[in-house]
Amino acid sequence: MLALFGGGSFYAAVGRSLLRIAMGFFAGMAAALLLASGSRRFSLIEEFLSPLMALAKAVPVASFVVVLLIWWGAEALSAVICFLVVLPNIYINILEGLKSTDSKMLEMARVFRLPARSRFFYIYRPALKPFLYSGMKISLGMCWKSGIAAEVIGVPGGSIGEGLYLSKVYLDTAGVLGWTAAVILLSVFFEKAVLHLVDRFFAWNPGCGGKRYAEQKHAKERMHGAGCPKPPVQEGAIRLTEVTKAYGGQTVIDRLSAVYEPGQTYYLTGPSGSGKTTLLRILARLTEPDSGQMTAPSRCGVVFQEDRLCEDYSAVTNVELATGDRAGAEEALGLLLPQEALHKPCRQLSGGMRRRVALVRAMEAESRYVLLDEPFTGMDRDACAGAMQYIRERQAGRTVIIAHHFQNFNKI
Ligand code: ADP
Ligand code: MG
Repeated sequence: MLALFGGGSFYAAVGRSLLRIAMGFFAGMAAALLLASGSRRFSLIEEFLSPLMALAKAVPVASFVVVLLIWWGAEALSAVICFLVVLPNIYINILEGLKSTDSKMLEMARVFRLPARSRFFYIYRPALKPFLYSGMKISLGMCWKSGIAAEVIGVPGGSIGEGLYLSKVYLDTAGVLGWTAAVILLSVFFEKAVLHLVDRFFAWNPGCGGKRYAEQKHAKERMHGAGCPKPPVQEGAIRLTEVTKAYGGQTVIDRLSAVYEPGQTYYLTGPSGSGKTTLLRILARLTEPDSGQMTAPSRCGVVFQEDRLCEDYSAVTNVELATGDRAGAEEALGLLLPQEALHKPCRQLSGGMRRRVALVRAMEAESRYVLLDEPFTGMDRDACAGAMQYIRERQAGRTVIIAHHFQNFNKI
């Protein structure tokens, strides 16, 4: 081993093999990411790719090697083999990760009109994490095994595979063990380096304001003068006409007609199961009524029945995602939450605190009306009073509709 590691040609061979395998690996990753995103968006692509991926998984590496050797020669062989090994593995994992993304969070992203970039980093990225790690760990090991096997069959000049092949020809056991040790060391370092990059990718906070928001904000300030919290509300009542909604034969909303005026606050009260959430979802255009009509202005802020926060990120980031204004988010959250809670990941906050974050997100996001589904859950009487005062202060001429249980009524 010492003799082998001391020679200059050894390092040249290691460099060449590493380069080819790394190229195949990263090309496979990039292609898998692209194809999986395409498949998630268009099921036709998924259907078209599924037999190809099954084929890539089932055909023995040796058959690929021989065919590629006949067609293209030995030079790029190990890169192409790595590509073919990595592609189906990572593709399947990423696609599963994308499919497992919480549809409730995607609904939240739609309501608050999160830009595609924020959706990717703050909703899809956390969902991809376990799938990408498991796919990468398996692919990294397989990549080296099959890449070196391909080199031993194709024998490209000055590579690790050629070294192993020559050791075989000369029955040089020490050589075989030396080259094998080199491959093991390389694959361990390669895995560590790649996983470190992946760690960095998941820890990276790309920010969520972006140019789009900054431009919108400047345009708004030019129109209404700086410091105006919300654009003045134009005419825009919400009208329900004979709205009916049933689930499996059970009528939840029966021919409801109502008008909700701008600047007013409405309370929907009723026991659990009486249809409050269903009505708010119809008002937010998340559920289609079976019959009847709903007309409303274009944008709304919503506190959902669940908190629907990005759990790994702070209260400030969660509000900033919807508003694009970090300083404004900090200021508004400071009215309802203690300072030390603002920068902790939301999963570490108490139920009542998380509810207040969801409330601030709904009130601060630019909107023409606000729908709050049991916004006081988990809050004590003081917190409720604070939240109610905050809602009144930030209403800014918008329609606010609050749904809550009977037993919460006396709290507010
Ligand atoms: P509330 O918010 O007042 O507690 P909901 O609007 O959540 O009431 O539910 C009203 C009724 O509609 C309940 O009986 C519930 O089981 C039913 N329901 C709500 N959403 C669905 C759904 N997606 N599928 C089937 N039934 C539903
Ligand atoms: Mg409900």
